Amino acid sequence: MQGFSRDFSMYPPCCHLLMKLAQFFPILVVWPALACGQTNHSTSIKLDQVGYPTNAPKIALISVPARTFQVKRSSDNVVVFEDTLSPGATDPNSGDVVQAADFTVLRTVGTYYLEVPGTGRSWDFPIGPEVFSRAYYLAMRAFYGQRCGTAVDLGPEFPLYKHAACHLEGRFHASSGRQGRRDNVGGWHDAGDYGRYMVNSGIATGTLLWAFEMFGSKLKGIKLNIPESGNGTPDILNEARWNLEWMLEMQDEDGGAWHKQTSERFCDFILPEDDHLPSEVIGTGKLPYKSTCATADLAAVAAIAARVYQPFDKNFAARNLHAASAAWAWTERFPNVIFRNPPGISTGEYGDSDCGDERLWAAAELWRTTGEAEYNRYFVDHYAQYLPALGALSAESWGAVAPMGLWSYALEARSQADSQALAAVREAALTAAHATVGRMRHNPYHISLGEGDFRWGSNGLVANYGMELLVANALSPDHANLEAALDNLHYLLGRNTFSISWVTQVGEHPFRHPHHRPSGADKNPEPWPGLLSGGPNAGRQDPVLRALPADLPPAKVYSDDQGSYASNEVCINWQAMLVFLLAGVMQ
Ligand SMILES: [Zn+2]
Repeated sequence: MQGFSRDFSMYPPCCHLLMKLAQFFPILVVWPALACGQTNHSTSIKLDQVGYPTNAPKIALISVPARTFQVKRSSDNVVVFEDTLSPGATDPNSGDVVQAADFTVLRTVGTYYLEVPGTGRSWDFPIGPEVFSRAYYLAMRAFYGQRCGTAVDLGPEFPLYKHAACHLEGRFHASSGRQGRRDNVGGWHDAGDYGRYMVNSGIATGTLLWAFEMFGSKLKGIKLNIPESGNGTPDILNEARWNLEWMLEMQDEDGGAWHKQTSERFCDFILPEDDHLPSEVIGTGKLPYKSTCATADLAAVAAIAARVYQPFDKNFAARNLHAASAAWAWTERFPNVIFRNPPGISTGEYGDSDCGDERLWAAAELWRTTGEAEYNRYFVDHYAQYLPALGALSAESWGAVAPMGLWSYALEARSQADSQALAAVREAALTAAHATVGRMRHNPYHISLGEGDFRWGSNGLVANYGMELLVANALSPDHANLEAALDNLHYLLGRNTFSISWVTQVGEHPFRHPHHRPSGADKNPEPWPGLLSGGPNAGRQDPVLRALPADLPPAKVYSDDQGSYASNEVCINWQAMLVFLLAGVMQ
């Protein structure tokens, strides 16, 4: 596929099929290009293609010099609003000079587009009360698409988006300390590859469970059309359980958890059922074979599960609580066993030299669930050293989960909680959010990313900042934090230098060539829906990015190319952050 890939993103969606044909029949290339070049959609007009909530601020950004703009109704091209643009501001990260088009006062539900005289028109976008519900639905269903160990079929909505059951057998790798068969069927494929990794599963599953815990009143009724739909449990929890069951299988009898289950190397760009490389449980290569970061992440996530599933399945909740306490006890015995890829293994490492933050998260979640003094004591003894993490740029990630622990302790203050710790965490969290909002006010694209944040998974960082802002809002309601979270979402859905939606099949002009094996291997013209791209990455760790002009500013180091795993891969951890952000702004 890669050898034939061309960038068709400048053409309207009506042309994509023709262009796809044209890549195999080059003689036809000229014709569709002429036939389709009739629209004047301008990528210089950047806005949220998914839309704007009725009562929220509504700002589009224009990156060519202009004076005025009009908002037109899509159905009849009638001008419903017009105004002058703000003065230009230079965005240091992209080099763009950006003017704002503010149409906040437009509150009539409908579908519109922006027109800038002399420049062209934008993609269509809606204004309405529930504009993000479809994006949430697709972003959550993307997890269903990542299911391993079962046949997946997106149904009549997306015919031909399916794969057969995969990775039904597994075995212990020598580094695990065991030998023989170990199937561990289930879980989600981690990213563009088919591996399953405990550490990344930890933050992804934990984030989804938190989304339910914080925004469940909105989410509990949303059906995802998955096999479990209608079983009495909210679908977001049904989907999270698919991965949680696999995580529980990765726990050894002594309480420790093996780090990952993958093949020894990445397979080709094939469908999952065609991947016949042995799926192996991989350990540290020497006693105690399990890793502390993986085990502590399991303890944290299973502790959340123990309280979240309680109303729906008491036995499952109890099983999680047992797993969480056993995992915690293991980390007491082995507080910092680090994982590195053993010789001969080249799949993702998710290596982390310090598992103290994972343990802090586990202690906080176990305390929140059980109220047992042991966990509180651990948290109180250790939290202070992690407080600065809340104020750092891009606070939380798969390898830095201290903020999850700190936030959790403060989000549900138990009666015996340490008042000094509570106050310190609250203050640090609110101060960090305040600083992020302040930085965004000076950012022409209205995003939280700071200098240096345009690195691997920068779109995930955008969503992470959204989480920071939404958690701060939960601790102390503040409209500025909510609006800032929404601004970050607008960036992901089209209000960015490329004027593309970074979620597949969402918005009129989405990216189309994710580094995602099912999308690359199947015969469908469009990628699997609902997937978030990794985003611009000035680190340029792949050949596609290295081939881009050397003087590109960081926000522009991105290529909608399947080969660009460093800027265009999908991944369950930033997918979960997107879900959290969507859920938060929907609520
Ligand atoms: Zn699989």
